[in-house]
Amino acid sequence: MTQAIERPTLTTKPAFHKLKCKECGAEYEAEAKHVCDLCFGPLEVKYDYDVIRNTVTRETIEAGPNSIWRYRQFLPVESSDPIDVGTGMTPLVEAKRLARRLGLKKLYIKNDAVNMPTLSFKDRVVSVALTRARELGFSTVSCASTGNLANSTAAIAAHAGLDCCVFIPADLEAGKVLGTLIYNPTLMAVKGNYDQVNRLCSEVANTHGWGFVNINLRPYYSEGSKTLGFEVAEQLGWELPDHIVAPLASGSLFGKIYKGFNEFVECGLVEGKDVRFSGAQAEGCSPISQAFKEGRDFIKPVKPNTIAKSIAIGNPADGVYALEIAKKTNGNIEDVTDPEIIEGMKLLAETEGIFTETAGGTTIAVLKKLVEAGKIDPDETTVAYITGNGLKTQEAISAYVGEPLTIEPKLESFEAAFERANTLNRLDWEQTTV
Ligand SMILES: *Cc1c(COP(=O)(O)O)cnc(C)c1O
Repeated sequence: MTQAIERPTLTTKPAFHKLKCKECGAEYEAEAKHVCDLCFGPLEVKYDYDVIRNTVTRETIEAGPNSIWRYRQFLPVESSDPIDVGTGMTPLVEAKRLARRLGLKKLYIKNDAVNMPTLSFKDRVVSVALTRARELGFSTVSCASTGNLANSTAAIAAHAGLDCCVFIPADLEAGKVLGTLIYNPTLMAVKGNYDQVNRLCSEVANTHGWGFVNINLRPYYSEGSKTLGFEVAEQLGWELPDHIVAPLASGSLFGKIYKGFNEFVECGLVEGKDVRFSGAQAEGCSPISQAFKEGRDFIKPVKPNTIAKSIAIGNPADGVYALEIAKKTNGNIEDVTDPEIIEGMKLLAETEGIFTETAGGTTIAVLKKLVEAGKIDPDETTVAYITGNGLKTQEAISAYVGEPLTIEPKLESFEAAFERANTLNRLDWEQTTV
């Protein structure tokens, strides 16, 4: 069912007005368009930074809503009533116990495992994309997803009253599937990997005239990730960190954190600093990490095979840009095995009380590997980006977390079980410390 939707009215002059090709610089109207007609390069949103500098201060931001929309002038929307479901302003937690375990002095976790409404960083990009989709007059929205994007698109489309049809690979985790179906979109489970889903969606986008958040709306969608940079700068007391570690799927989020930091510097909101950017991939899908290690400036696509399904993109659209940023900031790109990812999930949970999904386990395992290799200095203020929630990827971890002790509702039963557990723990501890 498709119904006409009302377009919101424009109240203030937005700082964004055009799309611009990242490769050749050709400019286009701010429509639903993502590829340059002349050179096939990706299109990006272009802003008038003078407008932003003249209207935005630390104080105006602090007085704004407690969501990504406090940075509205930096986002590609025109309406004064964006779709605000409380996305963003997630906690930046100082991770003292994890830092001590790893041998770092100042480590923070940016915790998007508790982002709203669907517990992943994707709520940021979708809030922006659907706000723009509504402005452009789309009544049906869609996406090609590795799981979290399907959850976000379905949920926020429901909130905004937009029709929704999303595409996922058929082998996703149960939590990701249920976490989409509950919002009652049309859900297409495609028998193939993400790269095949994406190719199919490009064809559907051409024939159906829908707003695909990560295809024809990609220039707007991807800008939402800048808020992960803005929030960290604001939450550190209007300062940039020394080093960040973030997961890489398409490579988009990584580049947008970089862009967010630079925009804040350019608009006088924080002082400039050489922030090092390090990226995390799963060994079973590590095309960007392989290129980095082999010193290549191009990506060789791979077939994904890893438990970190949400970041399993074999042919990453923004891979070369992520490579460039890691190189020019003196950062690194590293990958870890599936068992290391599970260890990373457990380590973060046991030291900081944060239950992340496999993508977050990848980030923590890479963080650990980089510290051990001397590639993160203990004195650097480091931020690790945790982008998704562990309740959505239970099958990846369920065999590695032990079992509850089942007892009778009697004191003796409890005492006996508790004594047994302590003995086992002691043996465990003695074995691991010899
Ligand atoms: C999509 C996703 C990413 C990475 O996104 P890109 O911008 O495509 O690199 C990271 N973590 C999680 C949990 C995701 O769902």
